[in-house]
Amino acid sequence: MNPGPGGAAARSTGRPAARPPARLTARGLVRRFGGLAAVDGVDLTAPAGRITALIGPNGAGKSTLFDCLAGTLRPDAGRVLLGGRDVTGLPAHARVRLGMARTFQQIAVFPTLTVTENVRVGAEQRAGGSVRGLLGLPAPGGRQAQQATEHALALLGLSALRERPAAALPTGTLRLLELARALAGGPGVLLLDEPAAGLDTPETERLARVLRGLAAQGMALLLVEHDVELVADLADTVYAMAGGRVVARGPVRAVLADPRVARAWGEAGAP
Ligand code: ADP
Ligand code: MG
Repeated sequence: MNPGPGGAAARSTGRPAARPPARLTARGLVRRFGGLAAVDGVDLTAPAGRITALIGPNGAGKSTLFDCLAGTLRPDAGRVLLGGRDVTGLPAHARVRLGMARTFQQIAVFPTLTVTENVRVGAEQRAGGSVRGLLGLPAPGGRQAQQATEHALALLGLSALRERPAAALPTGTLRLLELARALAGGPGVLLLDEPAAGLDTPETERLARVLRGLAAQGMALLLVEHDVELVADLADTVYAMAGGRVVARGPVRAVLADPRVARAWGEAGAP
């Protein structure tokens, strides 16, 4: 009924216009909080058409790195490149305009808006609709935003819930809603902070199917995830972080077998 990315919904005309394939790169990123280097010289690439995963114990610096990539935190040193473009100095909303989307570890949806309205916000953010709205200008590409919204709802299996206020929905559904909102902007690069947290098994399977489909369409995906099974199932390349640094990177099996990774987890306690 709710086809995955290879199904009827993806073939319909409602798909948001695809971004050209883009890659996300971090070079020598550093972010300090007081005396603590939460991110301490990280190099990372999330290539187009691939799923890249970031793992590591609590406090390793994953979310801080994410925030530096997304533009919600400024790094103290280093560069963030989107495609060939240096976006280090750009705020988050400007990066969204350039085709970067993200979801949050703490779910961020508008509770009083309906499912459709939440997704529509994502579709309009890309087009600069929120800024135009503030200026009293009509939202651009209303029809296109509508189609992008419909496509994202169908992709995540949310069409039947379209009129429900987000506040009434369980956590698993909210995670999928947040992802739908991010996808409605038609991003070329997607950052996901613990997207499977709070999902049940069918929801996790849907998530995995959708993420694989997005990568197959050329999107660059970077996910932080605690669920090692899901990472093993999805990721092309894994970066393991500890103490703000990348301690291992490579194919998932090699990284999980790396003694430096086991040691990092041991020192920080089990994930
Ligand atoms: P992870 O997502 O891997 O669990 P975080 O990036 O959240 O790790 O945190 C890395 C380190 O930075 C931790 O020691 C954490 O306490 C610290 N930290 C994160 N955010 C802040 C902040 N806003 N202010 C001070 N310290 C922070
Ligand atoms: Mg985190």
